[in-house]
Amino acid sequence: MRTKFIFITGGVCSSLGKGLTAATVGLLLETKGIKVAMLKLDPYLNVDPGTMNPYQHGEVYVTEDGAETDLDLGHYYRFTNSPLSKASNATSGQVYNSVIKRERRGDYLGDTVQVIPHITDEIKKRILACANQEDDIDVVLVEIGGTVGDIESLPFLEAIRQFYHDFPKACTSMHLTYVPFIKAAGEFKTKPTQHSVKDLHSLGIFPAFIITRCEQTLPKEVKDKISLFCNVAKDAVIEAVDVPHSIYELPLQLRSQGLGRRICHKLNIRDVPIELPEWEEIVERVTHPEGEITIGVVGKYVGHQDAYKSVHEALWHGAIAHRHTLKVRWLESDKLYDADGNLIEDAKGCDGYLIPGGFGERGWEGKISAATYCRTNRIPYFGICLGMHALVVEYARAVLGLADADSTEVSPGTTNPLICLLSEQEDVEDLGGTMRLGAYPCRLKDGSRAHSAYGEYLVHERHRHRYEFNGKYRKVLEDKGLTLAGTLDGAELGEIAEIDDHPWMVGVQYHPEFKSKPTAPHPLFKAFVEAAIAHKQERENAQT
Ligand code: GLN
Repeated sequence: MRTKFIFITGGVCSSLGKGLTAATVGLLLETKGIKVAMLKLDPYLNVDPGTMNPYQHGEVYVTEDGAETDLDLGHYYRFTNSPLSKASNATSGQVYNSVIKRERRGDYLGDTVQVIPHITDEIKKRILACANQEDDIDVVLVEIGGTVGDIESLPFLEAIRQFYHDFPKACTSMHLTYVPFIKAAGEFKTKPTQHSVKDLHSLGIFPAFIITRCEQTLPKEVKDKISLFCNVAKDAVIEAVDVPHSIYELPLQLRSQGLGRRICHKLNIRDVPIELPEWEEIVERVTHPEGEITIGVVGKYVGHQDAYKSVHEALWHGAIAHRHTLKVRWLESDKLYDADGNLIEDAKGCDGYLIPGGFGERGWEGKISAATYCRTNRIPYFGICLGMHALVVEYARAVLGLADADSTEVSPGTTNPLICLLSEQEDVEDLGGTMRLGAYPCRLKDGSRAHSAYGEYLVHERHRHRYEFNGKYRKVLEDKGLTLAGTLDGAELGEIAEIDDHPWMVGVQYHPEFKSKPTAPHPLFKAFVEAAIAHKQERENAQT
């Protein structure tokens, strides 16, 4: 087989940044001219994360072709140029679903259907499908979710063992572990790593690289010990030390240890030195900022750090583009006001407010009051999906005087449904995978803020929603100063709403955050941050 495969597993505990590590490895290889594809295998039984509460599993990342996927695909997008599609994420639920459907059709011709070989064959098929999704893919990076030792991930690990057996020369693997520093003993401890690698060995997988997450750089003896006990070469123990300023320092850190070179050597791939000028520039900007901005993000899942992952990263990209540091104030949308109806102190004084996507009633009125606050105080407001709905409903209530204006998602019986169910959604019963999903073309209006940010008339952005702007209200709103700055290309469907008499109040029906990279900040995030910087300066000037 021409394509090579790198399997990435994690041990000791979760949240070590396996996705980021996989994405960084992808980037290092791409910089050598190697064409990379990425695959995330998730052991949970949901068919996709689309039906999961972001509190449990973080944000749902959406691809161009409308797959609702694990947030690690966001890391892959931000670091690499690998193709990302339905072929880039598979869950146990999907794997079992396909096998069971085939069983019901009678395709197994009387066989007993079992984890080995039927489930493991299906997993192997998906690994190969990822390799074959485009021509000329040199390396597929396969990240296995969860932690080695979990019952759930066993079929995936067994499939990998078999994959090695089928294609021994095409495979290598790396295991990401945690090496804690015990303060009282003044020592790093390698035992959890040893145990985790032993578990992998007992499953027939022998990682060639150990990547150690640690708070400080490891003494040579500690790395040598890991090398000896985990049966890897000394120079295959690579450290991923906590980065001081930003995760975008990781590529430089891993490059400096020669990781890309060692992988090429292991897989017998032509090696060339890695140049990362764009990433050096990003790190330079992050470490030498010229200012700082504070953005309030008003949502209902703000207690979970990964629930708005792409929004957070895209804000960072906008800030980096303007050489600013970003501070985010995470504001609970249903706790913006105290019992007396006053805006809480923490919510005041941000340089701009971003109202991200969301579902359901809780926190909805809070988002609308955030829109009132920004509109009346002329503070930059960026509404994404539900945040765009809030912008429109608030304007209709306050400026058109339609007191009961609402979204039918929240008030199904309102007489002024400014936001209502997409017509194609009316008969939908299943909740999984049935929203308006994936990329659609949007035509921008000349002279709008969106157009000046993008510098183009036709853009493609990704969607994930059931409700839409009600075109019946377009004319009255436009007459009163709310412009539809973007519509679905070739149709009337409103995709961008802007307030004319305001420095920067923009709402978009789609999710621009999914298409922002540190090396290519999304134009709307860049423009929003610019407006926030201008607002901050104005406020400071007014105070002096
Ligand atoms: N709940 C809204 C809808 O389904 C908005 C979705 C979102 O913000 N992603 O249309």
